[in-house]
This record gives sequence, structure tokens and C-alpha cells, in this order.
Amino acid sequence: MTAIAACWTCGTEHLEHARFCDGCGLPVEDSETRAEYKQVTVVFADVVHSINIAATVGAERLREIMAELVNVTAAALWRHGGQVHR
Ligand SMILES: [Zn+2]
Repeated sequence: MTAIAACWTCGTEHLEHARFCDGCGLPVEDSETRAEYKQVTVVFADVVHSINIAATVGAERLREIMAELVNVTAAALWRHGGQVHR
């Protein structure tokens, strides 16, 4: 039997064709199924007193204001190489 890789959790080397780690019992993942971790920056915005604004300008105008806020924010993120997922 040949060891093919080490367990990312306990470090035990996996046996060839092993489906589970001999050291900790976790499923053996190959490079195609292993999760990929990336560092991301998430922008979250909360409009202070949006309920009060809605009461003043009405729901439709608030929707327009929020849409413009999203568009302006998205444009700034795109300029800096970001992506926007709504
Ligand atoms: Zn393990």
C-alpha cells in the first residue's frame, strides 16, 4: 500500500484508495472535491432610519433611493475590481 496524501485535519497519511482517514475517520477528499478557501471582503450597508425616510417620502421613492444607493455603491466596488452579488 502507498500513502498518497496527508489528512488535512490530523496529518495521518492516507492509504491509496482509502475513503476514510485511518487517524481520525474523516472522509478522504481528493484535490477535486476539497473546498477552496479565499479571502474576501464583504460590504454591508444599513441605511440609518430607513423606516423614517420611507414614512416621509413613501415606499416607491424609498425604493428609488435604495436602488440608486446600490448602483452608486456597486460602481465604486467595480472600479476597485470587486464583484457585486445581489
Ligand atoms: Zn485524519
